[in-house]
Amino acid sequence: MIQAVRGVHDILPSAAQKWARVEATARRVFEAYGYEEIRLPVFERTELFARGIGEATDIVQKEMYTFQDRAGESLTLRPEATASLLRAYIEHGLHVHPKPVRLYTMGPMFRYERPQAGRYRQFHQLNVEALGDDHPALDAEVIALLVDFFRGLDLATPLDVQINSLGDAKCRPAYRERLIEYLRRNSARLCAECRDRTERNPLRVLDCKNPECRPVLDAAPALELCPECATHFASVREYLKQMGVEATPTHRLVRGLDYYVRTTFELTATELGAQNAVAGGGRYDGLIELLGGPPDPGIGFAIGIERVVQLLPERGDDAREDRRPLAFLIPLGDEALRHLLPVARAVRSKAVRVELGYGERKLRSELERANKLGVAWAVIVGETELSRGEAVLRDMKSGTQQTVSLGALTDKLIALGAAR
Ligand code: AMP
Repeated sequence: MIQAVRGVHDILPSAAQKWARVEATARRVFEAYGYEEIRLPVFERTELFARGIGEATDIVQKEMYTFQDRAGESLTLRPEATASLLRAYIEHGLHVHPKPVRLYTMGPMFRYERPQAGRYRQFHQLNVEALGDDHPALDAEVIALLVDFFRGLDLATPLDVQINSLGDAKCRPAYRERLIEYLRRNSARLCAECRDRTERNPLRVLDCKNPECRPVLDAAPALELCPECATHFASVREYLKQMGVEATPTHRLVRGLDYYVRTTFELTATELGAQNAVAGGGRYDGLIELLGGPPDPGIGFAIGIERVVQLLPERGDDAREDRRPLAFLIPLGDEALRHLLPVARAVRSKAVRVELGYGERKLRSELERANKLGVAWAVIVGETELSRGEAVLRDMKSGTQQTVSLGALTDKLIALGAAR
């Protein structure tokens, strides 16, 4: 038997209902905030991600699904959506629209990571990006939107919002140097991964979850923001407060992508254990220009759908029972089937769910099937009924039966469906 690839999972019908709920909530909340959907390809030229995510990042160095197509071009399955979305923004001149241009998208992402609970190699994200404005109120609104999406899902579990400012090209480079110097000095007390990252991507070292590294990292120097970044960050927090959104400032919140500047944020749920990040994002002023577009700033976030689904409480309408068909149509023989096929089609056209046998089984086994399907009604048409132009309508709960003329059967089923 051929099995699914490691780290890749199927979303079975029993779970798909929850996925649909997450997606519907996203559309509702995002659109109320003025975001419009954009649908993007799942693969791009490799250089887009190398430039858009950063050569030094773990994603680009170790995690991309990169392949050559038959023409020898290097392509990559997207590990995240922002780079593709910005490419589309630039390519289609979307920057001519009133700013900020607000876009959202959803779909699969691909990263060659070590699979574990809550971490997949094909996973799914909801992505929101607001382009062309760097006002701190926009940052606050984006974070409020993220919080409101989770509110819209009625999660029982509490979520924490952490927020930080990574500074910009004015204040970060000096800090980066200071941090490298500090990390090198203490390298003997850091894990191999941290030592490697010290040279490649020093800010990410602060993110290390290894308890042995904690003492060094906890004592690491903190970023001192330049006056402009400090004012921007203070305003973001002030606007959040105005909206009643609680966010905890966290020095150590750095993100995996190179081009984040100023505001970064993450949403976590302790309930999820080790992989507790549900969503994360930040500002990436300068990235659009770096990808060959206009000098528009931008901010956005990504929500991991698998992790959201894991947090969702069961709801009545998720259960299969509530999606049971109204009736099972049982023709006994091919001629009866010919009568019932168009009836089923007409009833279904009114969005009433019915199922149909194909006339090859005995009545008893078809009634068993009706029971298994959990239908309210069985509709039986055998030779006798055909000769009388009738159908038998059997109430599966009580076992009582009534007859309906074949001509009135469609309307009768539609009426029963409407009354449910
Ligand atoms: P990132 O694009 O790395 O900022 O991730 C944003 C969100 O996507 C995270 O907070 C997770 O919820 C989710 N996510 C990232 N990587 C994975 C993965 N390998 N498997 C499942 N979810 C993921």
